[in-house]
Amino acid sequence: MRYISILGSTGSIGTQTLDVVRRDSEFKVLALAAYSNIELLKKQAEEFKPRLVCVYDRKKAEELSEIFKAEGTDCTVVSGPEGLSEAATVEGADLTVVAVVGMIGIAPTIAAINAGKDIALANKETLVCAGHIIMPLIKEKGVRLLPVDSEHSAIFQCLAGEEHESVSKLILTASGGPFRGYTKEMLKNVKLEDALKHPNWSMGKKITIDSASMVNKGLEVMEAHWLFDVNYEDIEVLVQPESIIHSMVLFKDGALKAQLGVPDMRIPIEYALYAPRRVFISEDSMPDLSAIKCINLMKPDTEVFEGLKLGIEAGMTGGSMPTVYNAANEEAVALFLSGKIGFTDITEAIKGAMKAHSLKFEPCLEEILEAETEARNYVKGRFNI
Ligand code: NDP
Ligand code: MG
Repeated sequence: MRYISILGSTGSIGTQTLDVVRRDSEFKVLALAAYSNIELLKKQAEEFKPRLVCVYDRKKAEELSEIFKAEGTDCTVVSGPEGLSEAATVEGADLTVVAVVGMIGIAPTIAAINAGKDIALANKETLVCAGHIIMPLIKEKGVRLLPVDSEHSAIFQCLAGEEHESVSKLILTASGGPFRGYTKEMLKNVKLEDALKHPNWSMGKKITIDSASMVNKGLEVMEAHWLFDVNYEDIEVLVQPESIIHSMVLFKDGALKAQLGVPDMRIPIEYALYAPRRVFISEDSMPDLSAIKCINLMKPDTEVFEGLKLGIEAGMTGGSMPTVYNAANEEAVALFLSGKIGFTDITEAIKGAMKAHSLKFEPCLEEILEAETEARNYVKGRFNI
């Protein structure tokens, strides 16, 4: 039996993780966590019978606790940040899937590693802000860190059986999002509903906006830097609009390895759960090679999509700068999603927050959270909110 805990079980990655788990009686879910969607969490609890659920929102947690009591469901309900860490460290679990969105993922990931759990990491914000804390801790505790993000899963698969010294370059692919080919002027007038239409992937709202602005790729470059211990100079981004090549590794002898497949997140999720074993998912996950007419590769336009350029700059600067980049983005994306600011305001807000920041080297968790607050306040102040 494999015992797991899933943080963010009601989201896009969380529900797809449960799709994988549902098919295999080898898995037993011990804990689930969400922010406030108790309707879905209740259904998941009925099906998977976890010992504990966390509802971050305290009011909603009380509501669910009352329902469980009335129905005689034997499941503890916890809430808030301490509840999320409780779910991450639930006794008996071997693996914690971190699929919450945003920097809220940092503390429970650290708690899970300290408790000796292997981590399947979808949440990229955690490594971006706290990679310098997480990576040494993973080593110290001797646990496994398994990437779920499709590009990082692709690189992880390409690196299987290879030596670190043999790697020349990591090549992260990007779809380019719905606005690929747009000019700066055109980007100024895009609407929320257009930004939410990703051409190839179906994902949560925040990452869909990040993909449209290419901030997602900025975050992923930093994620790759930490996961694979590769310098920023040796990480390249190429646009691959069909999303067939999920990423590549160039080796010192000139050999290039790529991982290809249909854009279906269940494949990287499954690899994170079973690696190095592979399991059949469904006919839908099988690529139809005869239908692929061509695979295009091109350099990204970082003058138009400044989100990527700023991400690489934040990563190279290091210290607290990636946190500022990420937190300013989280705040600005929330404002864009609620219709309060325009699309190009997102990267302008990030740029402003990074400029205003006084850098801290090797920030501890407290200093990361301070940099987060500072960046969020900067963005709110900029738009008088
Ligand atoms: P969604 O918005 O679909 O889901 C987010 C999940 O996190 C929900 O279950 C939500 O609960 C929960 N959540 C949010 N805040 C909290 C909190 N404070 N405490 C507990 N739970 C919380 O996001 P995605 O699944 O798309 O993305 C999750 C992470 O994975 C992100 O970091 C993203 O960048 C990354 N990722 C996603 C990919 C994808 O294909 N979707 C691909 C690669 C990476 P509720 O439903 O109650 O709000
Ligand atoms: Mg990705």
